[in-house]
Amino acid sequence: MSDIPQNTTARDPHETEFLQAVHEVMTSVKPVLDKTPEYRHHGIVERIVEPERIITFRVPWMDDMGKVRVNRGFRVEMNSAIGPYKGGLRFHPSVNQSILKFLAFEHVFKNALTTLPLGGGAGGTDFDPKGKSDAEVMRFCQNFMAELFRHIGASTDVPEGDIGVGSREIGYLFGMYRKLSNQFAGVLTGKGLGWGGSLIRPEAAGFGCVYFAAEMLATRHDSLAGKTCLVSGSGNVAQATCRKLIEMGAKVLSLSDSSGHIYDEAGIDAQKLDFVKRLKNIRRGRISDYVNEYPQAVYTAASAEQEANPLWRHRAQCIFPCATQNEINKQDAYHLINNNVKLVCEGASMPCTTEAQEIFLDKGMLYAPGKAANAGGVAVSGLELTQNSIRLSWLSEEVDNRLKIIMKSIHDTCLNAAEAYGYARNYLVGANIAGFLKVADAMLDQGVI
Ligand code: NDP
Repeated sequence: MSDIPQNTTARDPHETEFLQAVHEVMTSVKPVLDKTPEYRHHGIVERIVEPERIITFRVPWMDDMGKVRVNRGFRVEMNSAIGPYKGGLRFHPSVNQSILKFLAFEHVFKNALTTLPLGGGAGGTDFDPKGKSDAEVMRFCQNFMAELFRHIGASTDVPEGDIGVGSREIGYLFGMYRKLSNQFAGVLTGKGLGWGGSLIRPEAAGFGCVYFAAEMLATRHDSLAGKTCLVSGSGNVAQATCRKLIEMGAKVLSLSDSSGHIYDEAGIDAQKLDFVKRLKNIRRGRISDYVNEYPQAVYTAASAEQEANPLWRHRAQCIFPCATQNEINKQDAYHLINNNVKLVCEGASMPCTTEAQEIFLDKGMLYAPGKAANAGGVAVSGLELTQNSIRLSWLSEEVDNRLKIIMKSIHDTCLNAAEAYGYARNYLVGANIAGFLKVADAMLDQGVI
């Protein structure tokens, strides 16, 4: 039984993604609450699940035909006990308050694990950049920032990219922030290299995820070399995961987008990955085009009717879900288990349903939750802020080394926290407990606010 406060479910019963994320954390931290009554006494649970602030706003913009359109913008400022709110902006038609509250809640614990002073937040809009011209995306970003700029700041709230927000969108958002605030501040991360960005930031979530997987395998005297891997998604996190896996000698067999997936039995090598990067980042095409370039690969379209995702039926040793939430369900988990998967390492935020997580843990698999495994993204965002503050740019090797150290520290922190509470080798429980303790202790120190 988890300790979800009754109010949380009663107030927002329809916020399924948020309640899923809360249930996961509260189930994990129950032994902590039982052992240390102060947390309950000081209402830490009731406070930690309630955002400090949610901002919603209208975003009117004009399309290329001169028609006025209106989208809804959000920023969920979840918890600032250990630092300024930090978390992504998601531009996707599915975005609603539940999804952003779950992302912000995840960020509270993920950011605490990074060892950096970062609070948790998330934001975004139901605007869909897919199929829009650059001029439309620019006008939208400018109007989105015309409201958001009042609420963010280098010491207040520092957004970064997430689904649908890459370097193009961060550029337009930063430009408008700079104009409105008349300040060149480290207020967004994922900035261009020539104007305050950090080397390795675009790759950090994916690279960090692979470093985490390598650490997990090392606990079993194993490595990624020669391992067959399924990767989902084909955006920022999937591309970087794929690149690092190739560099570490693994064989990547798949990539996907919301329309379907490709399976390439020969393996996706560096040259094929370059094609995918041009396809997705420059031409803004679909992953189905991969088979036109590499006809030996097979494309399978996604179908809303299917209960299980056909991508997860392929045989592989390691799984890197890097697309979106709940992309691996119970049936998918059983398919993977039957195919003797060794490791699931989450690049995306909450890509496994609660049932899928339970199946992986029951079978004693190496399973890493996104809040630990993909924390490299926000960690290098923190390093970008440090470089902005000292007005210096570190070399790529320096940032990458720091990222490796942070991922190893997160890995060890998860293992140690899990072990201390009697859940040896359970990375899910370890990540939730370690993240919770850091934030909860800061909240205790700072009083009831
Ligand atoms: P991108 O927008 O760059 O890529 C997202 C990918 O996922 C695309 O291939 C997209 O396909 C696919 N996708 C999106 N929605 C769905 C869906 N409903 N079903 C199937 N596929 C889908 O986003 P990122 O790579 O930045 O983010 C991916 C995940 O990683 C998210 O969960 C995000 O929260 C998480 N993450 C991102 C970090 C970052 O720094 N960017 C850091 C840590 C975690 P299509 O093109 O068809 O939409």
